[in-house]
Amino acid sequence: MSSSDHTADPGAESAGELSSFDSLGLDPRVLKALKDVGYETPSAIQAATIPALLAGRDVVGLAQTGTGKTAAFALPVLSRLDVSQTTPQALVLAPTRELALQVCEAFERYAAHLRGVHVLPVYGGQGYGVQLSALRRGVHIVVGTPGRIMDHLEKGTLDLSELKYLVLDEADEMLKMGFAEDVETILADTPGSKQVALFSATMPAQIRRISQKYLHDPEEITVKNKTTTSANTAQRYLVVSYPQKVDALTRILEVENFEGMIVFVRTKNETELLAEKLRARGYTAAAISGDVVQTQREKTVNQLKSGKLDILVATDVAARGLDVDRISHVVNYDLPIDTESYVHRIGRTGRAGRSGDAISFVTPRERRMLTAIEKATRSPLKQMQLPTAEDVNATRLTRFDDQITAALEQSERIARFRDIIGHYVEHHNVPEADVAAALAVVAQGETPLLLSPEDDRPQRFDRDDRERPDRGGRVRESGRREDGDRPERRSRGAGTALATYRIDVGRRQRVEPRQIVGALANEGGLSREDFGGIDIRPDFSLVELPADLPTDVLDRLRGTRISGKLIQLRPDRGATQRSGADRPARKPRHR
Ligand code: AMP
Repeated sequence: MSSSDHTADPGAESAGELSSFDSLGLDPRVLKALKDVGYETPSAIQAATIPALLAGRDVVGLAQTGTGKTAAFALPVLSRLDVSQTTPQALVLAPTRELALQVCEAFERYAAHLRGVHVLPVYGGQGYGVQLSALRRGVHIVVGTPGRIMDHLEKGTLDLSELKYLVLDEADEMLKMGFAEDVETILADTPGSKQVALFSATMPAQIRRISQKYLHDPEEITVKNKTTTSANTAQRYLVVSYPQKVDALTRILEVENFEGMIVFVRTKNETELLAEKLRARGYTAAAISGDVVQTQREKTVNQLKSGKLDILVATDVAARGLDVDRISHVVNYDLPIDTESYVHRIGRTGRAGRSGDAISFVTPRERRMLTAIEKATRSPLKQMQLPTAEDVNATRLTRFDDQITAALEQSERIARFRDIIGHYVEHHNVPEADVAAALAVVAQGETPLLLSPEDDRPQRFDRDDRERPDRGGRVRESGRREDGDRPERRSRGAGTALATYRIDVGRRQRVEPRQIVGALANEGGLSREDFGGIDIRPDFSLVELPADLPTDVLDRLRGTRISGKLIQLRPDRGATQRSGADRPARKPRHR
């Protein structure tokens, strides 16, 4: 591809001199926003991509979700934005409406100190009205799905004649969803002088061809994965959605037999917030981040060494090189942004010949990062389940017994209380066991000793992590994004039963599988894995989808339009009467 291919090597920075955002050449107002968000150092893909983009190079970045690729392209675009230009300067193409909204939110966060920057999400399913009026008022950055962007281009409602930056985000996903033609048309019909950044988790031949055809001498950036982990550290992971992380951690703290623990989070701000939550739950926890002065850091580390402190909530930077034998557990509360950091993190445990435990929280959309970690470290992580109320109660009862045993060993103090209790038993005529139970009530206070089975009410650990606060916030212009407005993204686990659904568009409407997948995925929050076969008939189509689609998803899909026609999605009652040969057998083209 290019003679100047580049391999981002996170290992180089971990050796000591950590790179910083300050040295990358970004606009000071963008740097200020990064400080607010709490990022300490650029991720590997950011450190390599940002200077290249700022220098005006086209870039092909091999990176997946969770590596920080959004900031890798958003920060240089924002740093060079001309706010006085009223036609769109930057266009980001994303495979799904969900990703488009996330990218918009990221742009808005990083643009917090830039005046008057307008970012517009454009995706199918949303009314044209909002998009048109925003476009008329003037937009600097458009983030959209290829299909809807094409619609606007065909209608003449989106002027890309002065486009300076084009980003293809998750290019391989866009192709899988059947958007290849649209993507190529957009690449071909926008100014030749524009700068292009293409990000993809994989590099199939089609993407290589597109990049050779439309990009100018691109710099290819790959994050190097050369890592090994210690064999005496047991590595496990727990699938958990963002809002459930605190409760999950609390349960783990209850049942795991830990001595000292480091809990890794992604941002400085989060270190203090989480440490505070843990202290409120009765644990001795402290936060360290790059902001904590050296003397305070040393003091905290000494407390951890001596056992005055059991839990340290830390960022990658703050915990680098930390060497404390007592650390029996590392918890990746947030997954790291690259595999090298993962290895550094878990290297904090299993020290001095001891065994260690590493537990990683993985949100459903981070599964790919998990696979990357497993591949890079060449060791599979074992999935664990959230400890149940029963597990927690078993440990609580054991601890309760242990406390009694320990107190009984304090013979002098026991002797002093024995007379007082004897006096009470005699004068109130109450069995000694009841008095002991009453004293336990006094000692326990208002907090129940045991969890109840209701505490195990079905946990939705298959949910997306979109509630994550740093992804939150409203998207200006769209007028749509309110909590709960987006369809919950759901993914079909292996073995989920499929059912046949019927939609009222077919060959007559010239519908293609990619349009069906695109519309249903975007509107219903479905992922590609949710789709079975698609069979396009003259007047209707049959689509295989999970049999257990929730009612709200069904309702939303019923009202979806494809090629302007209401699709009226409903379970296909005719399927059972049709012959086997008639059943949808054709796989969608996008697979
Ligand atoms: P992305 O790969 O762009 O989806 O980013 C994954 C997550 O990493 C997002 O929650 C970002 O807010 C976060 N992130 C991006 N860059 C950094 C950084 N340099 N330091 C810490 N967190 C980051």
